Amino acid sequence: MEDPRAPHRSRARGGPLHGGHAVSAGPAASPAVRPRRGVTDRRGGRSASPYDTFNLGAHVGDDPGAVASNRERLARELGVPGERLVWMEQVHGTGVAVVDGPVEAPLPATDALVTRTPGLVLCVLTADCVPVLLADPVAGVVAAVHAGREGVRQGVVPATLAAMRGLGSRPGDTTALLGPAVCGADYEVPRAMQAEVARVAPAAAVRTRTGTPGLDLRAGLAELLTRAGVAQVVHDPRCTVEDRRLFSHRRDGVTGRQAGVTWLG
Ligand SMILES: [Zn+2]
Repeated sequence: MEDPRAPHRSRARGGPLHGGHAVSAGPAASPAVRPRRGVTDRRGGRSASPYDTFNLGAHVGDDPGAVASNRERLARELGVPGERLVWMEQVHGTGVAVVDGPVEAPLPATDALVTRTPGLVLCVLTADCVPVLLADPVAGVVAAVHAGREGVRQGVVPATLAAMRGLGSRPGDTTALLGPAVCGADYEVPRAMQAEVARVAPAAAVRTRTGTPGLDLRAGLAELLTRAGVAQVVHDPRCTVEDRRLFSHRRDGVTGRQAGVTWLG
């Protein structure tokens, strides 16, 4: 946590949320309830190879007991009961769910979660796609978004901002954290696919390190968020393909998932 007053700081150190990338999301109207967010990495879990070790994805072929144990550890580190973690069945779509209490199972066909309920931890699973964590500390609204190529193209982020507005949030009071993801230099796509994404987010169109058409989804998302009036976009610049502390489907094929998490706490 960047904010030294954040009560989760000491618990987060050495735990699944790693200091430099877990940030407090700005000043809040009420000091009692503030947006918080962070990103996990591969360290500190129970899963065996190729999911080693802190895999939080229950849909990737890992031992369900190991995943449950890892999720329990995440909840413990965040200081919430396990049932306060909210998960999605992500489908690379634009489904947004507003939640106001624990849910019994991962929300089907959902790629974004929004809440204004304190202590409810919104979780997005990724391996190369972008976890987008949004926070409006004034209205007291947070959101977790799964934004891969299809999500960016289809508009999952504008859909999420609209849902946040429905809860009284304003883009001008909102900050975004773009978490670890495949970088543009490592994300080669066919030219037509690049053009499809560039139509909605021109800044996403880049060249890879070998000079072929590539996609920098975070650059495109930053552009979309800024255009929508979001006050601040914070980057976690780590590349999942290059950083072996992170899960990367593009690098490893069968692998685990890290989580981006945000909550009002
Ligand atoms: Zn890279």
